[in-house]
Amino acid sequence: MRDPAIGEILVQADELNHRIDQLGTEIARDYAGREPVLLVGVLKGALFFLSDLMRRLDVPCEVDFMAVASYGSATQSSGVVRILKDLDAVIEDRHVLVVEDIVDSGLTLQYLVRNLRARGPASLEVCALLTKPARRQVELEPRYVGFEIPDRFVIGYGLDHQERYRNLPYVAVLQSSART
Ligand code: 5GP
Repeated sequence: MRDPAIGEILVQADELNHRIDQLGTEIARDYAGREPVLLVGVLKGALFFLSDLMRRLDVPCEVDFMAVASYGSATQSSGVVRILKDLDAVIEDRHVLVVEDIVDSGLTLQYLVRNLRARGPASLEVCALLTKPARRQVELEPRYVGFEIPDRFVIGYGLDHQERYRNLPYVAVLQSSART
């Protein structure tokens, strides 16, 4: 797609593919004997990551979704999170793996993890495609991470800017001139 808002590509499609293969193998190995694992996709950014990861998991698994909105500016979350869509499933005594697109300050994930932990799952881990360690405001590291990226606002492979660019097959930097 030709668009001046699309900047440098940070993660190419084949790199995504390869890393998600590795994550699938690792997660399937870790969850053997703790099935079925319940994947909780965080909408909408984790859309493609979740579906690609799930197809690589060679263990029985189920899927459910949550949608959250973080109060704050367009590019900066505040840690005050509103649940737009809650899980259908009851997760008490279940093995839950939260699948996130990106961990930035970590505030959204911190809220989500606390909220889900209070429901009494047998285990609760997080798998994030991307993480920006330089931006972290809370001590929180996902158990599984696809790629560490620098402090840039990225789009593609599910990640949006004002709801666009999710369909890019790679992860690219949003040109700063396109940020509002
Ligand atoms: P946090 O609470 O960790 O600061 O922000 C997490 C959420 O902010 C992510 O789930 C994602 O929706 C959004 N976000 C953070 N960084 C980026 C980015 O570089 N690009 C996009 N598209 N969204 C981001």
